[in-house]
Amino acid sequence: MRRIAANYIFPVSGKPIRNGILEVEDDGTVRKLYDFGGEMRELAHTEFLNGVLVPGFINMHTHLELAHLSQITPPGMGLPHFIKFIISQRDTQATQTELHTADNYMYRNGIVAACDISNTTSTIEVKQQSKIHYHTFTEVSGLMPEVAQKRLSQTLTILNAFRDAGLSASVAPHAPYSISEELWNSLLPVLKSGKITTIHNQESDEENRMFMQGHSKLTETFGKMGIMDNHWQKKGQRSLPHILPWLSGTHLLLVHNTYTQTTDLQTLINSKLPTGLVLCPTSNKQIENRLPAIDAFRRMSFPIMLGTDSNASGQSLSLLPEMVLLQEEKNVQFAELLEWATANAAKFMGWSQLGSFEAGKKPGINLIKSFDFESMKLKPHSSIKRIL
Ligand SMILES: [Zn+2]
Repeated sequence: MRRIAANYIFPVSGKPIRNGILEVEDDGTVRKLYDFGGEMRELAHTEFLNGVLVPGFINMHTHLELAHLSQITPPGMGLPHFIKFIISQRDTQATQTELHTADNYMYRNGIVAACDISNTTSTIEVKQQSKIHYHTFTEVSGLMPEVAQKRLSQTLTILNAFRDAGLSASVAPHAPYSISEELWNSLLPVLKSGKITTIHNQESDEENRMFMQGHSKLTETFGKMGIMDNHWQKKGQRSLPHILPWLSGTHLLLVHNTYTQTTDLQTLINSKLPTGLVLCPTSNKQIENRLPAIDAFRRMSFPIMLGTDSNASGQSLSLLPEMVLLQEEKNVQFAELLEWATANAAKFMGWSQLGSFEAGKKPGINLIKSFDFESMKLKPHSSIKRIL
């Protein structure tokens, strides 16, 4: 048994406790929280730590297989430019050492579980050995109608490889702008049977333009690269409402949502799909120099979660810089950010052991150091340490 005291404990399931003590089993299972009304009390065998104790974080969107890339510069060049860069890198691969280093970095930065996008089987070994609990989304894309069947069978082979290795996995369409109607139609039964899926959603307004008008900087880029022919026609509506019929029956994680508006959100509500919105703010800043309309997401009561995106676009694989950015630029309070980084994700994924300091759960324990106790805010250089 361990007793850990800190200046503050944020259980997430309840109010923050000043000078509280967290009592856990040696394996990290929460036994009890002590709240002495802010007074410093001493119980036998208590370790005192300077900072804020919080449950383990859940990274809801990352691409471990891009661990070998570094953040694209200069910032603000837009999504079509970024896609060109990523496609130019597709023959390069992270080494197993780079994958292990990235996994270890996430672990040391307090991440206990992650949703990871995979286009290959390269991360199977690291995920099998990791102390992080992963759900893998095997990603599929294809704009040419004639490649639909081939792409589907490729992703199913990868999906089965993850499942055969004892790992949790389901299929994910890459983005509205990268899937032909033929591929959507073939994916329909697969998505339904996998239940949980994810998609990069409205990361750039060029995506909405492509659907509304039939052409945009995205179609221009794809045309030049030879990965799109003239089959694409305007849909006369924004991307999200257009793709929703193919996603019925799923639990849907929409990632980025940088150009998602109230009308899109209303379509989601009407569809009654269980939907979560995942934000990757440092990546959005770097690629599009814009942040999503968080106030509308909150107002319409969507569960919000956080992801780091890949090393190629986000600042790092740690959630702390994502939280600092949202605090600074969107004025989100620490307690709410914490809910996004923990309990909301645990609930959406059905990871009942994670997300909060409640008796019987085993959520992992992090210490946030160098915290501003006066305004109860993260500092730009707050750091995180994995305690258990
Ligand atoms: Zn992504």
